[in-house]
Amino acid sequence: MRVACIGGGPAGLYFAALARRLGVGHEITVYERNAPDDTFGFGVVLSDETLGGIEHADPRIYREMAGEFARWDDIDVHIDGTVTTSGGHGFAAIGRQRLLRILRARCAELGVRILTRTEAPPAAELAAEYDLVVAADGVNSLTRSTYADHFGTTLEQRHNRFMWLGTDLVLDAFNFHVLRTPYGIVQAHGYPYSRERSTFIVEMAESVWEAAGFTDPRTAPGRSDLDSIARCEELFADVLGGHRLLPNNSHWQRFTTVRNRTWR
Ligand SMILES: Cc1cc2nc3c(=O)[nH]c(=O)nc-3n(C[C@H](O)[C@H](O)[C@H](O)COP(=O)(O)OP(=O)(O)OC[C@H]3O[C@@H](n4cnc5c(N)ncnc54)[C@H](O)[C@@H]3O)c2cc1C
Repeated sequence: MRVACIGGGPAGLYFAALARRLGVGHEITVYERNAPDDTFGFGVVLSDETLGGIEHADPRIYREMAGEFARWDDIDVHIDGTVTTSGGHGFAAIGRQRLLRILRARCAELGVRILTRTEAPPAAELAAEYDLVVAADGVNSLTRSTYADHFGTTLEQRHNRFMWLGTDLVLDAFNFHVLRTPYGIVQAHGYPYSRERSTFIVEMAESVWEAAGFTDPRTAPGRSDLDSIARCEELFADVLGGHRLLPNNSHWQRFTTVRNRTWR
């Protein structure tokens, strides 16, 4: 079977590796518009349950990932000068960049063809050439929106504002920091994902975001909202203890819940 995969993020690469393992006769091509090292975001967290599924599906990918994990069991909630620890959660984190490298290497070893810096042709065009077209083109999938009537898509945008940042402060557990500010509650959650870095996500209700005078300056793709990041550094100065917040395409976002009537 000839398979085309639109998008070489975690979903597209993992699908391609597993599909190729199922049938070495499958000829699989992944189209990825970005260069191999252009990735956005910091560490991603995977629960023990998810990792169990990965270990079962491809022990090789699991072993490679396990060699890189930052692991922890505790969640520490810091609020009003107290810390409440909840143990036994079993999570691991890995840098997104590192995860993509592991998946790309596994795909290469299995004989998947990955075309980087290559915009995928539209799905209809690919369908004329391939037996199966997989749309792994992310949360803002153009394939899904092109065929929204067919997929029966509804998008529900949530209200809270958040910004995905990194820091060179290496946290020792999954931490929630809840701050009472003059504008309302602002919280951050962070977790280590390597020996040098942690993920740090700042989040607040929309009313607090407005009261604090944050705006969405719509920075160009790849650019970060440096003014807001400097203000977040001030708000969380006590937590950061002199460490910096690190941007990577970081700007205010809202999570969107995507529901499809059918996924194929
Ligand atoms: C703040 C935040 C924190 C998160 N934390 C976690 C976490 O801890 N754990 C976790 O599991 N998930 C986390 N996620 C979610 C995670 O980012 C997504 O689940 C994951 O990235 C989805 O992978 P994907 O491959 O579906 O999409 P993406 O990672 O978006 O990849 C899609 C790829 O398709 C490419 N592409 C799109 N269109 C085309 C085209 N036409 N031609 C060629 N290439 C194309 C894009 O360049 C991109 O590389 C987080 C997300 C956010 C925003």
